[in-house]
Amino acid sequence: MEQGTTTQQDREWVRLRNQLRDNERIWSGFRQIEVRMIGSPSLPDLIHIVTAGIPETFPGIDCVTVACVDPEYEMTRLIEDGAEPGSGARRFIALPRETLDGLFTRPWRPRLGPVDERLHSLLFSGHSCASGSVALAPLVRRGELIGSLNQGSRHASHFAHGIATDLLEHLAAVAAMCIDNSINHERLKLDGLTDPLTGISNRRFFGRRLAEEVERWARQSGPLVCMLVDVDFFKQVNDQYGHQVGDRVLRQIASLLGQDLRGSDVLARYGGEEFVLLLPGTTPAQGAAIAERLRSSVEHSAFIIPEGVDLDVTVSVGLACLHPGVDSYGPDPAAWLFEQVDAALYQAKETGRNRVVQAQS
Ligand code: GH3
Ligand code: MG
Ligand code: MG
Repeated sequence: MEQGTTTQQDREWVRLRNQLRDNERIWSGFRQIEVRMIGSPSLPDLIHIVTAGIPETFPGIDCVTVACVDPEYEMTRLIEDGAEPGSGARRFIALPRETLDGLFTRPWRPRLGPVDERLHSLLFSGHSCASGSVALAPLVRRGELIGSLNQGSRHASHFAHGIATDLLEHLAAVAAMCIDNSINHERLKLDGLTDPLTGISNRRFFGRRLAEEVERWARQSGPLVCMLVDVDFFKQVNDQYGHQVGDRVLRQIASLLGQDLRGSDVLARYGGEEFVLLLPGTTPAQGAAIAERLRSSVEHSAFIIPEGVDLDVTVSVGLACLHPGVDSYGPDPAAWLFEQVDAALYQAKETGRNRVVQAQS
């Protein structure tokens, strides 16, 4: 009898010890994921950690997706930019606000249980492994429901109703905080490179891209065209009609200059009433034709001000090019290019404005 009790106690000890070990393993995996999420450098990286890291770390979880409200497709763009092409099943899903609100009821708590067809096609489309059971954890930030962290298992019993969800809730809270932080970080980066008046890139962004494009030019030896566009007699617009009208004219010019550019072209506001364009892989002749088209489109556009007057607005353009295979531009070809462009613009101003001048080089 005593012998039997001891064996039973031993078994109970072993069971408890194993359970403790399992819990310890889960906690350690959980802490690792948490540390990685907090340290992730970007939104795509964060989504990767959550969706790939959780199934790697926790046995029984076969796939994970993140769904968020993303009305401007801001997150979708960031994630798709960082994604390897052709990655089949979606790990990030942009949801309309009503759809997300329909997934949870207040107070927001995780939902566990079997998965129906509608839920599967909404949150696990392309993931065959979410067939048994799922856990949806609400992502809440500053009291607002921003998304859902979705875990799927092949096993029907893995996410059964009634099992403890505190770990899952904690994981979702950290994920929500990290998602929110990384979006804000991306917005800040964008703000630092965008001109707030016109919405196009700013001088800082141009400086970066010029360095990159000159480096590429040096490697690949295609031509690189640069243009500086300066509004003629712009001070008079301000003096006569006020700064607000001046601002509207600048916005309209920025939008005219941005029309018909290729994805690889760069348009930025260089400062004040000056805009700069970089056209990689463009010959000087093609560049001159583009410059002429832009000059003409500004000249012939209607700039209607509140009084109903159509202002005569024109621009002068300086243009220069780095030719392929030429190595006589000195130690800093970017600086050389910009000096040439600046000198050509000066000449355009000196010789009557509303014209394109190409540097003789
Ligand atoms: P030019 O044909 O020689 O280029 O003459 P300009 O009058 O265009 O040149 P100038 O450099 O004398 O004047 C540029 C003006 O641009 C002066 C400045 O008040 C105005 N400006 C610069 N930035 C802004 C802006 O953000 N908004 C407005 N409304 N005006 C600006
Ligand atoms: Mg100027
Ligand atoms: Mg000017």
